[in-house]
Amino acid sequence: MRLVWTLFVVCAAAFAVEVWDENQTKAHQSGEFLRFRFYKLDGAVKGNTLLVVGGVHGDEPGGYFASALLATHYRIKKGSLWIAPNLNFESIIRNRRGVYGDMNRKFSTIKTDDTDYEIVQKIKEIIADPQVNMVMNLHDGHGFYRERWENTIFNPKAWGQTLVIDQKTLELNDAPFGNMDELATKITENLNKRLKDDLHYFSVRNTETKNKDEAMRLSLTYYAITHLKPAFGQETSKNIDALAVKVEYHLRSIEEMMKLMNIEYERDFKLNFNGIQKALNSYGKIWINDKMAFNLIDLRNILRFVPLDKNKEDRFVFNHPLGAVKRRGDRIDIYIGNKRISSLYPQYFDQNCSISLVQIDVDGRIRRLNMGMTFAFADYFSVVPREDLRINVIGFSAEGIKNESGTEIAKKDLEPRFSEDVGGKAYRVEFYRDESFCGTINARIK
Ligand SMILES: [Zn+2]
Repeated sequence: MRLVWTLFVVCAAAFAVEVWDENQTKAHQSGEFLRFRFYKLDGAVKGNTLLVVGGVHGDEPGGYFASALLATHYRIKKGSLWIAPNLNFESIIRNRRGVYGDMNRKFSTIKTDDTDYEIVQKIKEIIADPQVNMVMNLHDGHGFYRERWENTIFNPKAWGQTLVIDQKTLELNDAPFGNMDELATKITENLNKRLKDDLHYFSVRNTETKNKDEAMRLSLTYYAITHLKPAFGQETSKNIDALAVKVEYHLRSIEEMMKLMNIEYERDFKLNFNGIQKALNSYGKIWINDKMAFNLIDLRNILRFVPLDKNKEDRFVFNHPLGAVKRRGDRIDIYIGNKRISSLYPQYFDQNCSISLVQIDVDGRIRRLNMGMTFAFADYFSVVPREDLRINVIGFSAEGIKNESGTEIAKKDLEPRFSEDVGGKAYRVEFYRDESFCGTINARIK
């Protein structure tokens, strides 16, 4: 039986333009596919357009996490950066190369009944868009490429640490950026100046696809060059353990390509191990049914009695490009890429209640808050009573109190094992009207 997947799109970061795709919405309703997301970062000044594709192979996190950072942590000032960070999303979440076979061998011909058909058609359309000047397809390949055979890790068949081109130049002589061999050589020279380990050095690997490599004729990059778009496969090594190191190589290479294409950008983190690690860990939030939000950064790996829709028509929204939700029977798993962040065990409620602004006394000051918001308190809080609402604070209990509205709840009254975060600081304040669930507000200890 097919698993039912759901994907929901997103509050775009302030600088990223979210492209809504009608098909994406349909697919989520039918629950059949996890669609890839697509970001267009366009500068105020027009210029060249670089298309970056991540995650065509689902077990290559360096490529798709690098693409996710491009989509959310970069701002383009001149030219355009378009990003499809998670092309093979179902395979990413399941950490497999290709759940329905190798997607990177489906670009020459694909049967209409192939499960990957719509995804491949959609990205082909984007590649062929007249605005796109260049395509980079990000991978983490096996081993470390060497011209001579040394062993099973270092050899001429290894893909790791290469810029892959299908041929030296585009066939149309004056095509912009058609000098692919020269560009790839410049980028690898630049990468090789700042290696984390001498073994990591990069090479240009020319597969001479047209004459020598039948399999590569079916690939995304070959599709691109036959449509006169210069294209590169970019491979870090699966044999490098640290995700942040792989991501750094991918990003350095893309930044170098943007410079060569005269695309001007800014990024909001430092391009070193710690800076990348921090950016990778910023998982953002998940919003559920517009009533409840969880901070994914420090969420417990299991949450129980989460008030979800009794009809199982919940709506989940992430601000991370790789956010996904998988239902397994009654349990709901939350993913960022291949990382399972948490599992929610629901308690089902009618969701008909909808309320806005409630008043909460926070350390002696009245605050007005909407469902899904968070407030920080130092000593205590107390929900200002409203006749129609019942309050339940998870982690607080007092004899004989069924409705905790109006009750002063001090820091010491909260039981850390019921917190939603691993540090024992964040607690759900749940609001109900009769038997309907209205939403939660999160109370966080300062
Ligand atoms: Zn790959």
